[in-house]
Amino acid sequence: MKRDDILPVLYDLSVTIGRETKLKPLLTRFLQRLLYHTSYACGFICLDIESCNANDELTAYKIDAAVGDFEIISLIGKTMVLPCKLIHGIYDQENEQPSLLQKLPFSYYQDFLRLPIENIGVIILLSFKRPETNLPLQIVFQPILAHLAKAIKLCRVNEAYTDELLHHRLLLSKVFDSSYSGVAIADADGLTIEVNPAFTRLTGYNKDEFVGTKPQNLLNIIEDQEFAKNIWNLLKSKNHWEGEAWIRRKGGELFPVWQLVNSILGDNGKATNYVSIFSDISEQKKAETKIHQLVYFDTLTELPNRRLLIDKLRQAMTIVARTKNHGAVLFIDLDDFKTLNDTKGHWVGDLLLIEVAKRLSASVRKADIVSRLGGDEFVVVLQNLGKDATEAAKQAEYIAEKIRKALSGKYVLGKYESNSTPSIGIALFQGENQSVDIVLKHADTAMYQSKRAGRNTIRFFDKEMQTLLEERQRLADDLEQVIEKNELILYFQKQVTNDNHLIGAEVLLRWKHPKRGLIAPGNFIPLAEETGKIISIGMWVLKQACLQLKTWESSPQMKNLTLAVNVSAKQFRIPDFVDQVQGILLETKANPSNLKLELTESTILENVEDAILKMNQLKQYGISFSMDDFGTGYSSLQYLKLLPLKQLKIDQGFVRDLSISSNDAVIVQTIIAMTKAMKLEVIAEGVETEAQRDFLEIHGCHNFQGYLFGKPVPIEEFERNCQIQH
Ligand code: C2E
Ligand code: MG
Ligand code: MG
Repeated sequence: MKRDDILPVLYDLSVTIGRETKLKPLLTRFLQRLLYHTSYACGFICLDIESCNANDELTAYKIDAAVGDFEIISLIGKTMVLPCKLIHGIYDQENEQPSLLQKLPFSYYQDFLRLPIENIGVIILLSFKRPETNLPLQIVFQPILAHLAKAIKLCRVNEAYTDELLHHRLLLSKVFDSSYSGVAIADADGLTIEVNPAFTRLTGYNKDEFVGTKPQNLLNIIEDQEFAKNIWNLLKSKNHWEGEAWIRRKGGELFPVWQLVNSILGDNGKATNYVSIFSDISEQKKAETKIHQLVYFDTLTELPNRRLLIDKLRQAMTIVARTKNHGAVLFIDLDDFKTLNDTKGHWVGDLLLIEVAKRLSASVRKADIVSRLGGDEFVVVLQNLGKDATEAAKQAEYIAEKIRKALSGKYVLGKYESNSTPSIGIALFQGENQSVDIVLKHADTAMYQSKRAGRNTIRFFDKEMQTLLEERQRLADDLEQVIEKNELILYFQKQVTNDNHLIGAEVLLRWKHPKRGLIAPGNFIPLAEETGKIISIGMWVLKQACLQLKTWESSPQMKNLTLAVNVSAKQFRIPDFVDQVQGILLETKANPSNLKLELTESTILENVEDAILKMNQLKQYGISFSMDDFGTGYSSLQYLKLLPLKQLKIDQGFVRDLSISSNDAVIVQTIIAMTKAMKLEVIAEGVETEAQRDFLEIHGCHNFQGYLFGKPVPIEEFERNCQIQH
């Protein structure tokens, strides 16, 4: 090799290196080109040579590539015993070369050239005679060997990466193939491109029949195509769907699956593929059905049992509440069933029950619920009986009559013949105002009434009672919004002295109902107490009264008037009652000495200590107290002494009967005498006649309230009357 030839050689070698991305071809091609250019006969490459121990003259080295010698080529990938010094280049070029050659396993080579590939490995070239060259080849090739070293590293990284990819792919495909779940993959158009063996096993379709056919056909085998369309739409918007579906096998058989469908998104966020994975859940379904059957159905008649009935009734009541329709519960009990059971045996009784179940189911619509509660008790729930209560009752009665006829009469029970009749109780329901338990109880009560009425009859749960219950519920609903809707109004009733001097008024609440007109407090306050609404209503009344007092402050005729406000027990009992009253006083800036709170005995008696505490706190602000309806409670003089009261109000019941009941006259006299002894004021309410007034006055009661002086009236009227009087 001449000096001028070296550049094209280096060029050729570097091009060779650049073409290869895999290690083995890289080494082999490089060796071939090297031999070609240097005229050496054969060569081999050992990579990753471990440092040698100086004593180990000969060591086994792995041959990574070899060219030109069949013997060596056959050792590629295996090891060959070679002089350690030769491989590692620890020898004296001039003196030791011949002895090293002798130690090679082949004696016919006369010369060698050792080319180190940086610290990665070594190339050994061998020849029969020394090639003619005066170039220092080791130095000349150094840059290209450095280049080779880099290429080796790159190839190795590349191969490791490819190996991992291959391994991964293999694993995935093994999972795909061995999966117990059916898997199908579709392209962006929903066209199936791959299915796994489980898919074929589960659906009966082989790969060829399924791949590349209709679009969206991952979902095509779903039985309900409307449902499949929904899944497809959901998949497009949410990229995921999971749930139960029914699939039709190629053979036509339907089976349930749990299916997961996912979109696989590309970098642009658009779906590139869809994957459907599903597993057969037939076995689970069967078990589920069995459990469900046992839990929710009566084993004898196969009708829903009490548990399911309650569930379904609850659902029916929710629907009815929304649609404002009526529903009905029919409670059916067989007459004399026990006698049949006792005389003919249980199995005959069972046959009767089975037959009754059949006749019952045949008498009602599919949407109605027929169930067996146990024993000889059956319950039928009718829905959609319309919005009108009377119409609903009529319909329920019609169906009950149909049932009564169907169940009455002859039954053939094995070898026996028997007669049976039912007693039926009906309870209507509308809305969630009644609980399931109560409706069932009502129907049960009605059934007993029909038994008492001579059996084989139909009875409604007391209609009037039911109407009342419904009425009450509607009122309670309306009451909820009463303050927001501004439907409350205050009436004022005069309180006067014996010389007809106006001292104040009692504030009495009215409800201006948009449909029912003016409602008296007796008709809604107990309800408000039950629902708790009384608390906000009571505070509203108190605030309005205080605002009124404040308005009157600027009027010379009105500024000294006292307003008496009724406080309900529930309102008084709230822990922050005192704070709330104080808040109202601060807000309205009303003078507390013009405010009187009316409490009843029972309100105070509920918790005497708490009452005393609250009353004392309020008294400190200047508020006074009157005990309303006095005499009707368990008037105990003991605690009366402890209460910071200002006034007793004689109940109107005693006043009303003053002339006809000497007993009441004595009570009134005693009350008046008692107030004197205790230094309390006394006022009589419900004074309607002069005679009543005179009696009271003679016995020492000088304050009155009643129709004789004025009925409760709206504020405008009240003020007008006051003006006339003054
Ligand atoms: P009450 O506090 O004993 O009120 C007296 C009731 O007797 C009032 O009935 C009044 O209109 C009536 N009355 C007054 N004078 C006569 C009369 O000469 N003859 C007859 N027959 N009746 C007379 P009203 O307004 O229907 O109130 C009934 C009850 O409702 C009140 O009894 C009171 O307990 C309650 N109430 C009224 N307003 C409120 C309120 O704002 N809050 C609370 N918690 N209860 C109230
Ligand atoms: Mg009162
Ligand atoms: Mg009263």
